[in-house]
Amino acid sequence: MTSSGRKLVIAIDGPSASGKSTTARMVAERLRYLHVDTGAMYRALALKALRAKLDLGDDGSVRYLLESSSVDFQAAGASSRVLLDGQDVTEEIRKGEVSQKSSEIAALPAVRRWMVRRQRALGQAGGVVMEGRDIGTVVLPDADLKVYLDASSDERAKRRWLEEGGDGSGRPTAEVRRQLDERDHRDMTRSHSPLEAAADAVTIDTTHLSVEEQVGKVLEEVKRILESASEGTP
Ligand code: C5P
Repeated sequence: MTSSGRKLVIAIDGPSASGKSTTARMVAERLRYLHVDTGAMYRALALKALRAKLDLGDDGSVRYLLESSSVDFQAAGASSRVLLDGQDVTEEIRKGEVSQKSSEIAALPAVRRWMVRRQRALGQAGGVVMEGRDIGTVVLPDADLKVYLDASSDERAKRRWLEEGGDGSGRPTAEVRRQLDERDHRDMTRSHSPLEAAADAVTIDTTHLSVEEQVGKVLEEVKRILESASEGTP
């Protein structure tokens, strides 16, 4: 794949349950790139705020949160674990209340600045697939490839519901959909770095695509970029 030996910076953005994480992870695996799930970073901070019952409306509490926290990724085979202050929180950050809190915390400018600094450092060396909401627009605006994944709201709610059990043991579909819509609305309408496609992003609608097809489309774009780069090389 990397005939030119060049390691790309790939940004993948999109709303909840649009297929970002699975696609980003699989693309990174195929290319042997680093996968950075920036949503997990917001989730980890949100978990800490919940545990400490912090008032996010209070500047001092937010400052304390940012000054006292570390969020890191630890490689574990093909995937990675999320560490909050050195403690593994990979499973805990997927809980519903953490999802909601993460989009509240993500609207705070101080939190976004803290995150962007760390995320840029992770993307700096290239050979990275970074996914989130503002990667192509703010974090890595010079990325070699920007992808915006989308899917219908019905399809995304169905995917999330299935992920959560979907057989009667999980939450009712209407509740899953309400929370998903609420979170997307907050992410798209906040004044700092709202979720939107970068002007030069390739948009892929995954409503009727399989995971393999989504991954294939991103890899086609990668191939196109690498080939045009090697054609330009004397
Ligand atoms: O991607 P995920 O659903 O795990 O992200 C959790 C929340 O973190 C999102 O709803 C969003 O509010 C926030 N987020 C963000 N910018 C990113 C990644 C995530 O605002 N780059």
